[in-house]
Amino acid sequence: MKNTKTIRIALAGNPNSGKTTLFNAITGAHHHVGNWPGVTVEKKEGRTTFDGCEITVVDLPGTYSLTAYSIEEIVARRFIVHEKPDVVVHVIDSNNLERSLFLTTQLLQLGSRLVLALNMSDALHQSGARIDAEKLGALLGAPAVFTVGHKGEGIRDLLETVVKVARNEHPQVRQIRIPYGHEIEDHLGPLTEKAEALELFEVPHPPRWVAIKALEKDKEILQAIRDADRKGALFLEEIEETRKHLYSLYGEEPETVFTERLYGFVAGILKEIYAAPPLDRISRSDQIDAILTHKIFGLPVFFLMIWAVFQLTFEVGAAPMEWIDAFVSWLANFTAAHMSPGLIENLVVDGMISGVGAVLVFLPNIFILFMCISFLEDSGYMARAAFLTDRVMHLLGLHGKAFIPMLMGFGCNAPAIMATRTLESERDRILSILINPLMSCSARLPVYVLVTGAFFPPEHAGTVIFSLYFLGLVLAIAMGRLFSKTILPGEAAPFVMELPPYRLPTARGLLIHTWDRGKIFLRKMGGVILVGSVAIWALSAFPRDVPLSRDYDAEIGTLQTEALEWGDTGKIAEGFKKQIAELEAAREAERIEGSYIGRIGKAMEPVFRPLGFDWRNAVSLFTGFVAKEIVVSTLGVLYQVGAEADQKSEGLIQALRNSDMTPLAAYAFMAFVLIYTPCLGTVAVIRRETNSIKWTAFSVGYAVALAWVVAFVIAQGGRLLGLG
Ligand code: GDP
Ligand code: MG
Repeated sequence: MKNTKTIRIALAGNPNSGKTTLFNAITGAHHHVGNWPGVTVEKKEGRTTFDGCEITVVDLPGTYSLTAYSIEEIVARRFIVHEKPDVVVHVIDSNNLERSLFLTTQLLQLGSRLVLALNMSDALHQSGARIDAEKLGALLGAPAVFTVGHKGEGIRDLLETVVKVARNEHPQVRQIRIPYGHEIEDHLGPLTEKAEALELFEVPHPPRWVAIKALEKDKEILQAIRDADRKGALFLEEIEETRKHLYSLYGEEPETVFTERLYGFVAGILKEIYAAPPLDRISRSDQIDAILTHKIFGLPVFFLMIWAVFQLTFEVGAAPMEWIDAFVSWLANFTAAHMSPGLIENLVVDGMISGVGAVLVFLPNIFILFMCISFLEDSGYMARAAFLTDRVMHLLGLHGKAFIPMLMGFGCNAPAIMATRTLESERDRILSILINPLMSCSARLPVYVLVTGAFFPPEHAGTVIFSLYFLGLVLAIAMGRLFSKTILPGEAAPFVMELPPYRLPTARGLLIHTWDRGKIFLRKMGGVILVGSVAIWALSAFPRDVPLSRDYDAEIGTLQTEALEWGDTGKIAEGFKKQIAELEAAREAERIEGSYIGRIGKAMEPVFRPLGFDWRNAVSLFTGFVAKEIVVSTLGVLYQVGAEADQKSEGLIQALRNSDMTPLAAYAFMAFVLIYTPCLGTVAVIRRETNSIKWTAFSVGYAVALAWVVAFVIAQGGRLLGLG
């Protein structure tokens, strides 16, 4: 008896079968999240102890099969072949047995030692359907256990079975071979022997699987065989001949025939072990779908839901937003009061606390939005949204699935870009990532509110701001079309729009999914924003000894002495205070003009002059790279009213009005803010998601160029039309 002390298991299964839920139930808090090497597919690893065994668990990407068509499939099967986990736990959505068992057959062919977790068995039993788990295990040579992931039911049973299988103590375990019929077997036999003898791979692969995959023209396997030089070439020839032979026999490609065989095998199993429910849940879903995906009502209902989501996000988010804002101000004041004034205090208060605080306030909005989206997703409605918007999205050379990330972009582009992971093809993903920043995120709204308030009458404010959102959409469609005709040619990859049955999401599931999304945001944004804020602060704080045109300190000193004589109440005292504040602001303005950031602004000014922007606007666009909220605080600093200025500040609005910026230039400025790169956080996410510096650079480069061109057209075109 082998008493294994450490066991390595991998969770495989279809997307949405509850893998991650089971993973969390098994590992609890003992896990960490990373990426699979070289690709942007998330990898979760964790561990637990059970019955004296140390069990490590890997959550494989969700897949429907194990071909080489998607990154997820390649990652999953590579892991199984190369890492040889002791046991593969196949997490099965018991309500989707046929599709799941199709994957089971392929896992068996890979030679994994399997345990089937018949998950979502609560819903199965509720529906009145029955699965004979005992018999299923016996037929497949792989034991099956019922589980309910989000309630943790069956986890003990599952782990017990896993340990038994790993120790070779389970009576049901045996290697079965899925028969392909003697015609095909006649060829598979010799090919399998050859595949074994050739030793094509450094890590041995199951030879029968290699033969099958080669006959299916699996690109990874074929490449490996080609790399094996002469012996590989001979093998390939034989494969090619067999393919021709099989084709003439069946009149279809071998891969089609093979898939049919597997489905036939699955159908046979189902007959033996599955009893359908009296009234299928699917049919209840059909009834709901009759309304929600209705030709005429579908879209209005959909827009109503989206409107409700945004409403909820901003209404419910408003209160906690104020609390956080109040907390940040309190923290800034508290810190300022308890540190000796000077450079360090300045760095902590103005650089770190205000900078990070500006982003922190959006946290409630973001978490609420994520929670709503998780709800729509877990309930099965998101799949319908993709279905409904498919036709519109084809205008952009994308399909309905790409709609959800675009929608999320109105909240925040960074998680929206992460959401493009649901798209299968690399091309669709990159196209979506490139146009996503044109969706006007919530961080740009403060800029619109401030500038519109300063340059446009209140009765037009709503229209002006709406026109900017609309401009973003139009540009997204135009750019989408342009890119799909030029640098990213091709049709949107065809995909089956599955409509999974509706299901009431569980609170636990919602929280886990919301947190999973939110914490990435927290971590990334926190780091980037902190560094960015400190950098901007440093650029505006140095050099310290800017030569000033007047001796402000002396003037302020004189005023203070005079003020003392008048006491500190009454009109005259007020007057002194105001004069002193004005002088301090003027000193600050002059100092900043001479600081590094002022010099950068002056250097950039010529580029922006045709757009009607001065050096201060230029600087704010520069600092706005870090985050769009920073545009507002930068304008605040540069237009002399102190860094705490926000869009409500009358002083800043007045200062903007007094500047020589025209309403036309102001509109061009807002368009610029809309179009160019939203924030450093987004750049970091684009880098991560495209896994390419080239695409990241292109995304930033084209956005800045487009912003300049559009702003130029607005400024100069408007001037020609006599608008400004
Ligand atoms: P994954 O894509 O395979 O990782 O699936 P998830 O773990 O993200 O689960 C998808 C959804 O199914 C979530 O809303 C879960 O809460 C839910 N879920 C998971 N296990 C069960 C279960 O046993 N029963 C029911 N009713 N829902 C479950
Ligand atoms: Mg998952």
